Amino acid sequence: MTARIIDGKAIAGELRAGVAREVARIRRENGLVPGLAVVLVGNDPASELYVRSKHTQTQAAGMASFEHKLPANVAQDDLLALIASLNHDTRVHGILVQLPLPGSLHGETIINAIDPKKDVDGLTPNNAGRLAGGFPALSPCTPLGCIILSKSVHASLEGMNAIVIGRSNLVGRPLLQLLLNENATVTIAHSRSRDLPSLCRRADLVYAAVGRPKMVRADWIKPGATVIDVGINRMPAGNGKTRLVGDVDFAQVSGVAGAITPVPGGVGQMTVACLLVNTLRAACSINGLPKPSV
Ligand code: NDP
Repeated sequence: MTARIIDGKAIAGELRAGVAREVARIRRENGLVPGLAVVLVGNDPASELYVRSKHTQTQAAGMASFEHKLPANVAQDDLLALIASLNHDTRVHGILVQLPLPGSLHGETIINAIDPKKDVDGLTPNNAGRLAGGFPALSPCTPLGCIILSKSVHASLEGMNAIVIGRSNLVGRPLLQLLLNENATVTIAHSRSRDLPSLCRRADLVYAAVGRPKMVRADWIKPGATVIDVGINRMPAGNGKTRLVGDVDFAQVSGVAGAITPVPGGVGQMTVACLLVNTLRAACSINGLPKPSV
């Protein structure tokens, strides 16, 4: 069997186009321009690249983009003061603090300072708790993208057996909650799980969010299962350059799975598109407008 490749690039492109249409509509009908503020501390090259891509895509969707670059040695109080001012800025509907933060800053305190209504990364305890309780919430972008990709293969996830490998606050835990909301039956695995291959073999939906290159092998996969690879691992390419590899052994697993996301070109493409969705939703919610159609 050769798996269908789930084209994250195309699906993310459609999503961004849908966001742009909705942004144009609320601009026309309500005079509202959704705005996203991104805060970057330090000059980690990967983070700089992500922030640049967020800025370009936010503007391309017709939204306002506000970038705040701070030195790595910024005082925690100064960063908290910036977040407080963004919380009060009526042009800003989404606030994202790019992670990871330098070790001198207390990440939890910084994230908790973001107004939950503007928490488009879905990382505040308020949004995480609301999601866990089954209440409407701003959900983290990567897991939202995973659900959209899964639903590009299966119109409904109801009753399906899903396994999420990884339990981080950013990916695994919120993905578990989103899958429950879709009425899937979910197993969540982690570094202490016993016999991961046989847990995986029971699953119709496999989500790998670990950070270990090519960990998921063909004999872990039930024939025909849908495999969503969240992992982004940078590996030497042999010519002094690097290449991106997922947590799934794509060459092997694509011979067994029914559908699979590539790395790159899968989940990674969806994360920024879902950030735009969350910013649009936050702008509508803050301004008392109906939920947008994306
Ligand atoms: P974390 O390091 O925060 O979490 C990794 C999880 O994997 C932990 O829960 C850990 O278990 C589990 N784990 C580690 N080793 C094993 C093992 N041998 N067997 C089973 N589980 C294991 O990573 P993130 O969730 O932040 O990211 C995971 C991957 O996804 C990374 O490659 C990252 O780059 C990528 N990523 C991609 C994004 C995208 O846009 N595509 C966005 C975010 C992340 P335990 O809790 O027991 O330690």
